[in-house]
Amino acid sequence: MSRYDILIVGAGHAGAQAAIALRQNKYEGSIAIVGDEPEIPYERPPLSKDFLAGEKPFERILIRPAAFWAEREIAMLTGKRVVSVDPAAHEVTTADGEAIGYGTLIWAAGGSPRSLICSGHDLAGVHAIRTRADVERLMRELAATQRVVVIGGGYIGLEAAAVLTKLGKKVTVLEALDRVLARVAGAPLSRFYEAEHRAHGVDVRLGAMVECIEEQGGRAVGVRLAGDELLPCEMVIVGIGIIPAVAPLLAAGADGGNGVRVDALCRTTLPDIFAIGDCALHANAFADGAELRLESVQNANDMANAVAKTLTGLPTEYHAVPWFWSNQYDLRLQTVGLSIGYDAIVTRGDPASRSFSLLYLKQGRVIALDCVNAVRDYVQGRTLVVEGKSPDPARLADPAVVLKEL
Ligand SMILES: Cc1cc2nc3c(=O)[nH]c(=O)nc-3n(C[C@H](O)[C@H](O)[C@H](O)COP(=O)(O)OP(=O)(O)OC[C@H]3O[C@@H](n4cnc5c(N)ncnc54)[C@H](O)[C@@H]3O)c2cc1C
Repeated sequence: MSRYDILIVGAGHAGAQAAIALRQNKYEGSIAIVGDEPEIPYERPPLSKDFLAGEKPFERILIRPAAFWAEREIAMLTGKRVVSVDPAAHEVTTADGEAIGYGTLIWAAGGSPRSLICSGHDLAGVHAIRTRADVERLMRELAATQRVVVIGGGYIGLEAAAVLTKLGKKVTVLEALDRVLARVAGAPLSRFYEAEHRAHGVDVRLGAMVECIEEQGGRAVGVRLAGDELLPCEMVIVGIGIIPAVAPLLAAGADGGNGVRVDALCRTTLPDIFAIGDCALHANAFADGAELRLESVQNANDMANAVAKTLTGLPTEYHAVPWFWSNQYDLRLQTVGLSIGYDAIVTRGDPASRSFSLLYLKQGRVIALDCVNAVRDYVQGRTLVVEGKSPDPARLADPAVVLKEL
C-alpha cells in the first residue's frame, strides 16, 4: 500500500493550490493528489467561456504544466476515484480497490452537476458543463447543432448561451424562477442580463417548467414545457447547480449534508481530515456567520492557502472576502462580498451605458457589489465591504463620487 504524509482528494482548483502552497511554505513531506479525471489540474472557468468558444486550447488552461508537479515531487494519481475513507486507519480506497494511506487528508472533491430528474434527462445530446470531457463531448456535436436549449439561468448557463450565440446557434434559456441569476444577484442585475441576452437574440423564458426531454432514436430532439409547448432542438445544456462530492466523508461519519462541515481552520469533524473548495460547508464571516458553500476559484484558493499554512506550523483561519467574475459577450461582471440578506440596493451609473455597479446594503452597511464593466468600482468598493462601511446612499449612487473617498 502506498502512503503519503498529505493526501489530497480532488485534482481541481482547491487541491492543486493546496499542494502548490504547501511546497511554497517549504513543506518537505510526501504529497499526492488523487483525482478521478484523467487530466492534471486545469482551470474550470474557461469551460463555459473561451475554451467552449474554441479560443483557448486545453494546454493553456492547465493550472501548471506537467513538469511543475514532477519537479516539486507532488505525485499525480489521476484517473482514480476515492470511494471510501477509513479515518481510524488513515486510509482511503479507490474504485479499483487500491488502498492509499495518509497522515493528513485534504478533501477537495468539488461537486458533480445536478441532473434533471424528468424523463429524457440522460439522452444523447443532453450535456452538463463541469469537466473538460463534458465540454469536448458537447463541442463535437456543435457542427450538427442549430438550436440549443439551456436549462438554468445561472452563470454557467448564461455564459454558455453567450458563447453559443456568438457561434451562430439559436439559443433558448429556460429559467424556473421569475428572473435569471436569482440565487446570486439582485433583480436589477437579473433584468440587465435578461435584456442583454435578448438583444443578442437569445430567447429567455422565465418561470419555465420543464416537463421532459423528447427523444427520437435515442437522442434529445426537444424540451417539452409544462403546458405542453415543445421547443425543438438538437442540444440541451443543463446548468442547475452542483451536488457536493462528499459522500465518502459523510459515510465515514463526518458532519455535513449540503457539503461537509468545516470549522474556521477548514477541519472536518473527522481527525486529520480537512475540506476545502466547493464542497466545504463553512460559517462565513461575510454572511454574518451563516453556513454556506462558496463555488468560486477565489474561495478554493484561499481555503487551500489557509490549510497549507496551518499544516506548515502557522494555524490560519479562512477569512477572505468572497469575489467572483463572469464574462458574457463584452460584459465583465465582478462581484465582491455576499449579497445574502440585503435590504437595499443602490444603483451607481446607468445600466443603459453598460457600465454600472450595484451596491447591496444591509442596515446601511455595504455587504456586496456587482460591477459590470466597472473595474474601478470593484477595486475601490472592496474596501467598503471588508471594512463594513455605511456611507450615505446618495453619495454611493453618484458616479462622480469615487468610492475610495467613502
Ligand atoms: C463551467 C464553469 C465555469 C465557472 N466559472 C467561474 C468563474 O468565472 N469564476 C469563478 O470564480 N468560479 C467559476 N467556476 C467555479 C469554479 O470553477 C469552482 O468553484 C472551482 O473549480 C472549485 O474548485 P474545487 O477544487 O473545489 O472543485 P473542482 O475544481 O471541481 O475540483 C474537484 C475535483 O475532484 C474530483 N473528484 C470528485 N470526487 C472525487 C473522488 N471521490 N475521488 C477523486 N476525485 C474526485 C473532481 O472530478 C474534480 O476534478 C466555474 C465552474 C464551472 C464548472
